[in-house]
Amino acid sequence: MIKRRSTRLVHVGGLPMGAGGPVTVQTMARSPLDDIDGNIREIAAAARAGCDIIRLALPNAVQAARFGVIAARSVLPVVADTHFDWRTTLAAIREGAAKVRINPGNMDPDGLRRVVDAAGERGLPIRIGGNSGSILHRAGAPAADADLPRLMAEELLEWAARMEDMGFRDIVLSLKTPDAAGTVRATRLAAAASDYPLHLGVTAAGLREDSLYKSAAAIGALLLDGIGDTIRFSFTGDMAGEVEAGAALLRSLELRRSGAEVVSCPVCGRCRVDLPALAREVRLRLSGIRVPLRVAVMGCEVNGPGEAKAADLGIASAGGTIHLFVGGRVVEKVAASDAVERLAAEAERLAAERGKEAPAC
Ligand code: SF4
Repeated sequence: MIKRRSTRLVHVGGLPMGAGGPVTVQTMARSPLDDIDGNIREIAAAARAGCDIIRLALPNAVQAARFGVIAARSVLPVVADTHFDWRTTLAAIREGAAKVRINPGNMDPDGLRRVVDAAGERGLPIRIGGNSGSILHRAGAPAADADLPRLMAEELLEWAARMEDMGFRDIVLSLKTPDAAGTVRATRLAAAASDYPLHLGVTAAGLREDSLYKSAAAIGALLLDGIGDTIRFSFTGDMAGEVEAGAALLRSLELRRSGAEVVSCPVCGRCRVDLPALAREVRLRLSGIRVPLRVAVMGCEVNGPGEAKAADLGIASAGGTIHLFVGGRVVEKVAASDAVERLAAEAERLAAERGKEAPAC
């Protein structure tokens, strides 16, 4: 079990963030704000994939009414991502944002005070984000030995202290650099020096195939330290992929226990089926299950049930037939063509039993 860092508690819509609550998954919608239906479709798809919080970019106050319509129809709490103009942030708060994301370093000081007052009145948290790019922008060319992660953490904590001086406490921090090591170091420093909930992610991380490993390394290392209350994988142009990766990482660290987790063996010379295709079919068939369940798809009946003892149930190929096992014990042998449906029926029965015992988290 991971021992989570203790933080203060904020709320994003109805969702608790921090204080040991569930680690949430976030993403950003990609549709422009004037495509209201497109945004709603994206949000619904994100929710189905396991997303908890959606963020929308609000470029200016003129578009705030559209933001409000989307926030009112959204099935997920909506965070407004605003920059520079405090009037835009105020408009987002007025239009129903559940949280706002700002960079206080690029906001007029009087405007920042107004934003803080408005968020405080409505009980909204503010995420203040530091990234290495903004530090470089302000500091100019850094010395060759400059410790950018430390500069980021120090600057962000100074801004948080200023907001606390204004009487505002519901602060969430994020410290992102384009590389895993810098993100981990900056975030660890901020975590050690404060009790703010932390949003984890790597900035400008690239296409899925590049970002996946970088983001998993950074976010995973921090989560294993007990650091992090909400996460976002950042993939160029791939919202669903971001959510799936975030939810899968949380499941792999046992920080999320909902839905069917499909585990499968790596395959060796004993396997006589197309196991990747079978595992994908099972994954798709069980995607509607909401209670935690570990389902194994194994390449042979010789070692499969034993190797997958930790799974709740599973199937192991035996050539033309498939062995269905529950709790590591073979309970039935079925024709290969019936295997997925028989497994699904058993999984749904187990899920229904568990659903009566405890709600999914
Ligand atoms: Fe090989 Fe069977 Fe183990 Fe899969 S379960 S890796 S097929 S021995």
